[in-house]
Amino acid sequence: MEIESYFSANYPEARARFLRLCEARNFAVRSYRNDRAQAPDGSALYMDVATTGPSDASRLLVLFSGTHGVEGYCGSGIQAALVGESCFDDTPTDLQVALVHAVNPYGFAHNRRVNEDNIDLNRNFIEFGGEVPSDNGYGDIHAYLVPDQWEGEPRTQADMGLAQYAKDNGAAALQHAASGGQYTHSDGVFYGGTAPSWSTETVLTVVGDLAASAKEAFFIDFHTGLGPYGHGEMIAAGYKPQVGRTFEFYEGYEVTDPDAGTSSSAPVQGTMAHGVERILPDVATHFLALEYGTLPMKEVLTAVRADNWVYLSGALDSELGEQIKREVRDAFYCDEAKWKAMVYERALDVVSSTMRKIDL
Ligand SMILES: [Zn+2]
Repeated sequence: MEIESYFSANYPEARARFLRLCEARNFAVRSYRNDRAQAPDGSALYMDVATTGPSDASRLLVLFSGTHGVEGYCGSGIQAALVGESCFDDTPTDLQVALVHAVNPYGFAHNRRVNEDNIDLNRNFIEFGGEVPSDNGYGDIHAYLVPDQWEGEPRTQADMGLAQYAKDNGAAALQHAASGGQYTHSDGVFYGGTAPSWSTETVLTVVGDLAASAKEAFFIDFHTGLGPYGHGEMIAAGYKPQVGRTFEFYEGYEVTDPDAGTSSSAPVQGTMAHGVERILPDVATHFLALEYGTLPMKEVLTAVRADNWVYLSGALDSELGEQIKREVRDAFYCDEAKWKAMVYERALDVVSSTMRKIDL
């Protein structure tokens, strides 16, 4: 089948396609309904978990899509294509494979990166209850990231403020301050929340169950929005032991580390990688974020800010609101055959070599 045909135009279509393909390949499927949110048309939202292979295997491979909602167009298309193209028909023995579809179904259905509580899920896996983590300078630029008005003088001033911050501190410092994760501005961007969200709790429960017999676990989380067009950057994520194991396992591949400054991503706290590593202390975990480039970083950040503004202060049903929603989708999903072929080829290579290496 044409690879492009595995990619969907919206969340309900993506979910239906994923479930249909998994059923045809005899995957076992469990669905988790998010009772805290609905799709734009009022319909229900689900995180779906499809598994194949022995549930008591000592090795586990989990592929996630849609941790950042709207990025699920890419991850869901990849998951569907991997299943549809029979990539799991001949998996190593003693390996269970799980595909977690739409970790953040609200964001996928509403074309948003955040969840129903304006939380960036990949900042929400911190240990809550202790000290609030550093905001890496976010407080200094919050007002610029989230202007009162999206057009006219307030927006011009806001953009100038960000440009000045980059001039004074460097572009990397601006990226870190904006996107590293903050826990103080619930109306801001890259907000990590004050407690684990529904998706976070569900993911950790699902992973804990899947890994009940596992001695080794491999996680790949599909993301978009950073790096060159269509390129899939292999980012080793989590605490130091897991990052070290991931580098060792993927020896021969170019793997990057945000904490070492080698990634297109700034150092980030509270990612899913930190969460799974924390709950599986007796498992040798490995975690890759496979990050695909879309548009230039400035345009992607502008789309994130615009999306935040339209829900906070704008009107979704206005011409500007509709334009912003289109721009958000385009910032995280290149709806082009060439891009889809690129992201799938890379995913196929990374996933199949992961399974090959597991079997060595
Ligand atoms: Zn992402």
